[in-house]
Amino acid sequence: MSLIAHGKAVSFSYVLKGDDGAVIDSSGNQAMPYLHGFSNIIPGLEAALEGKAVGDRVEVTIPPEQAYGLPNPDGVQKVHRSQFPPDVDIEVGMQFQAQTADGHPIHVRVIETIGAYVTLTTDHPLAGKTLHFNVLVVDVRDASAEELAHGHVHGPGGHHHH
Ligand code: ZN
Repeated sequence: MSLIAHGKAVSFSYVLKGDDGAVIDSSGNQAMPYLHGFSNIIPGLEAALEGKAVGDRVEVTIPPEQAYGLPNPDGVQKVHRSQFPPDVDIEVGMQFQAQTADGHPIHVRVIETIGAYVTLTTDHPLAGKTLHFNVLVVDVRDASAEELAHGHVHGPGGHHHH
C-alpha cells in the first residue's frame, strides 16, 4: 500500500469549516490533487496527511500560523477611488491584481469602502482563521519525473500546460 510521503501525487476530498461550524469550502464531487512535500497545500494540512493511505479519513484543526497566516497590518492600505477604473463598482470582497513598488504582482482585496476611499488588504481571505478540515484520501500514486521537476501534479484537476 502506498503511503503519503514526499513525492507522492495525492488526491483528496474535503470539507472545510470555520470555528462556528459553517462550511467555508469543500471539494464537492472533484477530488483535489496535489504533490506532497512541495508546499502545494497549507502546511498544517500537508503535515496531517503525511503517512496516510487511500481510504483514510483525517479530521484536523489547523491554527492560522499553519494555514493562511495571521492578518498583516502592513498589508492594509487606504486608497482613493480614483485609483480604480471609473466603470468599476467597488464592493467589499472584490479582488484585484495590483503591483508592488518593485513591480511584483500581488492580490489585494477590498475590505471596506467609506466615501471616496477604499481600504485594501493583501491578506488571504482566510488569514487569522482556525480551519477545521475533514479529509478523505482518494488516491495516492508516485509522481512522474516531470511532475517532480515542475513541483505540481498534472492531469485532471492538476496543472495544464499549453
Ligand atoms: Zn507542470
